[in-house]
Amino acid sequence: MTTPVKGTLYTVSAPSGAGKTSLVKALTEQDPNVTVSVSHTTRAMRPGEVDGVNYHFVDRAEFESMLERGDFLEQARVFDNLYGTSRAWVEQTLAEGTDVILEIDWQGAQQVRHLIPETVGIFILPPSRETLRERLTGRGQDPDSVIDARMAQAVSEMIHYVEADFLVVNDDFNEALSELKAIVTARRLGAASQQQRHAALLQELLGSAG
Ligand code: 5GP
Repeated sequence: MTTPVKGTLYTVSAPSGAGKTSLVKALTEQDPNVTVSVSHTTRAMRPGEVDGVNYHFVDRAEFESMLERGDFLEQARVFDNLYGTSRAWVEQTLAEGTDVILEIDWQGAQQVRHLIPETVGIFILPPSRETLRERLTGRGQDPDSVIDARMAQAVSEMIHYVEADFLVVNDDFNEALSELKAIVTARRLGAASQQQRHAALLQELLGSAG
């Protein structure tokens, strides 16, 4: 059996309200070779969320013992909750030849880039400040002070766009999705990946000259 071409690791970061989760979900549904990592978190489950699907929901003691064992590839505190990515799952999935997306904040993206420099960083931006505010307003039941705090939080995430390799503006959903797919395709067509994927072809074409 031939060894599969190792998958690519992507980080996808965005302020909340940029549509990151929906875009990543659509991408993984349309491309069976891309999968998203399910993080561990200490935050409370929101209505509609499912343990093991949206997150692995754990208590603080369990999170801390995983941290001590070195189970996390990266971890961060966001809004007083702890989040972490399973190292073993990511390594295994990449080794099997599947691309992995980590939907994580800028702190986690920085840690991953440091550990695995070939990681591809993608940042998703909303199309305007006004649209972002509308998306953060939800059903209009929150006071202005809460929305202002969410906007400030979004800005503090967005200033890290400079650290990403690719920027996608999510104005039209389908266009943003095509752009994400184009990034994944371009990456697969990179010479280093193609050389592994087409080793037999290159050998046939070039013979001893290769
Ligand atoms: P939420 O609690 O709204 O699902 O996520 C809050 C923030 O935590 C988002 O920016 C999300 O990307 C980030 N996040 C989710 N999982 C992880 C993780 O495993 N590591 C890091 N560093 N951030 C995460």
